[in-house]
Amino acid sequence: MTQSKPTVSFEFFPPKSIAASFQLWETVQTLAPMAPEFVSVTYGAGGAIRALTRDAVAAIAAQTPLRVAAHLTCVAASRAETMQIVENYAALGVSDIVALRGDMPGGGAFAATPDGFADSCALVAALAKRGGFRIHVGAYPEPHPESRGQAADIDHLKAKFDAGATRAITQFFFEPGTFFRFRDACVRAGITQPIVPGILPIENWAGVRRMAVRCGAHVPPEFDAAFAAAARDDTGQGNGRTDLLATVLCTELCDALLAGGAEHLHFYTMNRASQTRQVCHALGVTAEVDLQKVA
Ligand code: FAD
Repeated sequence: MTQSKPTVSFEFFPPKSIAASFQLWETVQTLAPMAPEFVSVTYGAGGAIRALTRDAVAAIAAQTPLRVAAHLTCVAASRAETMQIVENYAALGVSDIVALRGDMPGGGAFAATPDGFADSCALVAALAKRGGFRIHVGAYPEPHPESRGQAADIDHLKAKFDAGATRAITQFFFEPGTFFRFRDACVRAGITQPIVPGILPIENWAGVRRMAVRCGAHVPPEFDAAFAAAARDDTGQGNGRTDLLATVLCTELCDALLAGGAEHLHFYTMNRASQTRQVCHALGVTAEVDLQKVA
């Protein structure tokens, strides 16, 4: 049973085709009435993808009353180029930045661009110095592939807060204990700023599982068994049981997080509204606003 009604935020990625643009817009229209605290748009490494992020941020900011957070990384750009992007976001009315180190486009260890930001702390510090944005950063309840150990991770997260971040959003995970152990360790290390759980609704278990393996999230074996059983039952009858299982598992996770003190949930929507909406509804987050500006 849900303990308290959380505030929520929804993350989108920039669409790369006309069809994907329609899908994003449909997702925004479906989820926006739930009055998220903010929505965010992820950021890619190449110039063309960066333009798509800017365009998606601009469209959402212009066409809806939503508060928009733009993601930004240190990859493949000088400090001057990155801060120009920041100024462009400010001109669009963007109030929040999700400031990240990012990953190299071809994989491998991160290498700072000559004249670029050396790491996420340096980017956060530059944003804080400029002022005018709420600064969110990433956090990793399960070790990031480049983790030097949990103590070093938490020191690094603390350094990001000390540099001016106001809130951390975690990588997704499947079990509430994963989040609580991390949050409690952060509190013991003196971190007082909010750490928000990142929630990945399960639109497609095979896809979510692949992402989990890629980013080092522990996959509970019982999830595999449950989705295999649900898929067998679904044969020839649509995806009713699989969808229901996905909603139940994600809602249970969110319920446990709220019961344990989380007040805000950040949903990685993958530009699909269905599971995010169902889980939000189950948590009591329902349509609140009539979005005049969303056609
Ligand atoms: P950091 O937290 O700066 O570091 C990553 C890891 O290295 C951590 O384990 C950290 O502790 C360790 N580390 C780094 N420096 C030090 C140090 N000096 N001492 C000790 N340990 C150190 N990627 C994109 O390309 N675009 C996006 O839009 C995007 N959005 C994201 C949103 C969220 C909420 C999250 C959690 C991740 C997102 N990512 C995105 C992925 C992210 O860019 C990668 O996970 C990247 O590898 C790490 O970026 P970071 O800023 O979180 O890293």
